[in-house]
Amino acid sequence: MERYQRQIPMIGEEGQKRLEASKAAVAGLGGLGCNVITHLAAAGVGNFILIDGQCADESNLNRQFVYDANDISRRKTERSAEWIRRLNPAASVEEHHMTLNDRNTEVMRGCDLIVDCLDNRDSRMAVNRFAFRNGIKLVHGGVESLFGQVTVVIPGETPCLECILPDTDMEAVSSLSPMVGTIGSIQALEAVKVLAGVHSPLSGRLLSIDASDNSYRVIPIKKRNGCGCCSAKN
Ligand SMILES: [Zn+2]
Repeated sequence: MERYQRQIPMIGEEGQKRLEASKAAVAGLGGLGCNVITHLAAAGVGNFILIDGQCADESNLNRQFVYDANDISRRKTERSAEWIRRLNPAASVEEHHMTLNDRNTEVMRGCDLIVDCLDNRDSRMAVNRFAFRNGIKLVHGGVESLFGQVTVVIPGETPCLECILPDTDMEAVSSLSPMVGTIGSIQALEAVKVLAGVHSPLSGRLLSIDASDNSYRVIPIKKRNGCGCCSAKN
């Protein structure tokens, strides 16, 4: 346990064991996903399901630090799995090179938590529906330019992503390493709390960051009447 002695005061030995026994699905291995897998592997999460349909390209290298110039055109899932195993050889990693939609979300079956590091609304909504149907907690993060947000969805208790996200896609045209690093790190922190079962997750509330002037707000969020995902069953 020496490896984890600095974090056990925060999460407890039981919490550490829960991390090591847990399985996290990380949907999306871009700027957010690179941060999330790094922190979760270092903290001792024992099992990963990685899903991303892209290969690394040069425009990723300003912020997606898992990949370097030698990884151009390589599958992100493959390189990310290597990265996790290097950080924590005890971890098991499943790789799924695919773009998530309603027909393939089953690859996440059996996970204890989903971390949404996606960059498009269609995949997000498919993941949201899968999480809701199966009662799996979901840590959402999103970044657009210098704005970012994080929330934890607990199916049946909190609003779901379809309740709170706009109908239009975020345009991920501008992206800076420390910005995705901030949001991805907060997602990883929430994931550790949920998986270890300690402290208070950011559920029923949305952390909203405007880094242009360092405004950080935590806003209560509500279920939306008529939400196509979660309202029928509530
Ligand atoms: Zn909803």
